Amino acid sequence: MKLTAKLAVAFLVISLIAIGLAAAFVWTSTASEFNLYLQGQHHQAFAEAAQNYYSQNQQWKGVERALQQQGYLPSPPAPGELNDGQKPPPPPFILLDTNRVAITQGGRYNHGETVPASADNPEILIQYQGKVVGIVLQTGEPLVRNRVEQEYLDRISLAMLIAALGGTLTALFLGWLVARTLTRPLNELTLATRAMARGKLEQQVPIRSKDELGELASAFNQMSADLNRANQSRRQMTADIAHDLRNPLTVIGGYLESLRDGVLKPTPERFDTIHAEVQHLQSLVEDLRTLSLADSGDLRIQSQQVTLRGLLEKVSTVYEHQAEQKGISLTVSTDEGLQTRLDPERMEQVLGNLVSNALRYTPRGGNIRLTATSQPGSVTISVEDTGSGIRPEDLPYIFERSYRGDTSRSGNESGLGLAIAKSIVELHGGSIGVESHVGHGSRFFITIPLK
Ligand code: ADP
Repeated sequence: MKLTAKLAVAFLVISLIAIGLAAAFVWTSTASEFNLYLQGQHHQAFAEAAQNYYSQNQQWKGVERALQQQGYLPSPPAPGELNDGQKPPPPPFILLDTNRVAITQGGRYNHGETVPASADNPEILIQYQGKVVGIVLQTGEPLVRNRVEQEYLDRISLAMLIAALGGTLTALFLGWLVARTLTRPLNELTLATRAMARGKLEQQVPIRSKDELGELASAFNQMSADLNRANQSRRQMTADIAHDLRNPLTVIGGYLESLRDGVLKPTPERFDTIHAEVQHLQSLVEDLRTLSLADSGDLRIQSQQVTLRGLLEKVSTVYEHQAEQKGISLTVSTDEGLQTRLDPERMEQVLGNLVSNALRYTPRGGNIRLTATSQPGSVTISVEDTGSGIRPEDLPYIFERSYRGDTSRSGNESGLGLAIAKSIVELHGGSIGVESHVGHGSRFFITIPLK
């Protein structure tokens, strides 16, 4: 059974139970309240007729006959009239004199019987010139409704039946509507999920409401977009790595072939070139290994107490020569005595990557500043340059694997540097970010908790 049908049936069953209970309750209470009301009305009319009789005659003699003629009491069968076995129901009211002796026949009491007072049988006193002259008592016999009264009750029953039917139909329609509203987004999600399973990762479903289903749809869209992007970047990364591996291998292969065939002479410069390519291959393989360790959660850091000035100066020393050659000033400034626990080797790798990027994108005459400052509970290390800056559209992606902002560049870089830096910084419980203005420079900052 489909969810729509299940929900519609559940809705209908609940509504039917509610409508049935309400109708039964309303119907029984309407009938009994109506009876009570009629009884009161008839009682009053009966008492008024008796009172009138007494006013006119100043005695009760002959009252029963008069009341029968007026229709307040059933008439006895005419003499000679065949008794068809159906006795008229006993009258529901009885007239008593002041000694509570029955003047008329009613209920189970006959003429002359003394009728005791009872809380169950309401009475109306009949007065004449300020004196009580009689009592009209309800005998507890069920009232026989006349035709008009019965028709009124029947009309009310019919109206209730129509209302119950209308309620059921409305419940059916609303149930179907609610079920459809609920299942439509689910069906769309199912279709989109199937399409994803077939490999079409880019799926977007419409967000139709702001409730949990809307949240599910928006989470699904986010997941689909993320998966699609991750898939594309994985493909891109594989292609980039293949490309990055092929270049140095082509160079090395070409040199070795020419040297073997004697086409080229084995000079120290040629061996230097081959060596540089091998080193590049080694660093690429090392980067891939670090990333795969980070992925599997096996990348470990060995923290120790480190003075930040020492750390930054060490990194600066490594790149000093390169900076000098490019005519770039490389400076270090830190708060004196600032220390924290971190893995010095891994952090040197991160900072080295940031500085070598800065050197690459900063023109002659520029500056690169390495700073460390402390805040309550954390330290921030930043690498700031006066280079080309990063385009705003590239900023959200530069920490992703294999992302190269400048796609025209085919140099020695794998595009993995910042992804590795991010993994290492996060292993330290910290975070890495960047702010950049095209044409003015960039500032990469690492914040790690003070330990
Ligand atoms: P790569 O190996 O290509 O340098 P990274 O992950 O280190 O890879 O950097 C990713 C991209 O971020 C670079 O291709 C470059 O476009 C941009 N980038 C990184 N650092 C800087 C910087 N200091 N100035 C300008 N662009 C930068």
